[in-house]
Amino acid sequence: MPRIEVDINKCVGCRSCELACSYHHRKLFLPEISSIQVHFDYQYNVNVLISDSCDCLEDPPCLAVCPTKAIRLDLDYHNLNKL
Ligand code: SF4
Ligand code: SF4
Repeated sequence: MPRIEVDINKCVGCRSCELACSYHHRKLFLPEISSIQVHFDYQYNVNVLISDSCDCLEDPPCLAVCPTKAIRLDLDYHNLNKL
């Protein structure tokens, strides 16, 4: 099964991915219910966590809205896992 990955060095913390995910699933712009979660530490470093329960991996809306192309679809994840 493929999965999405985030290049944290490209992420600018805009949180568009959270909005896209919550709207796609619940028709709400509510970051709290998003499967992708963007966190900031006290020094404003960004960390992005992705749920294991992502269910739209063929055309992820989070990927489509990311302005810096920090999100990618890893189609080889399943095969690599089997090695
Ligand atoms: S792949 Fe789908 S479920 Fe997962 S974070 Fe992106 S929009 Fe949300
Ligand atoms: S949309 Fe892209 S740049 Fe914006 S917070 Fe999400 S991963 Fe980071």
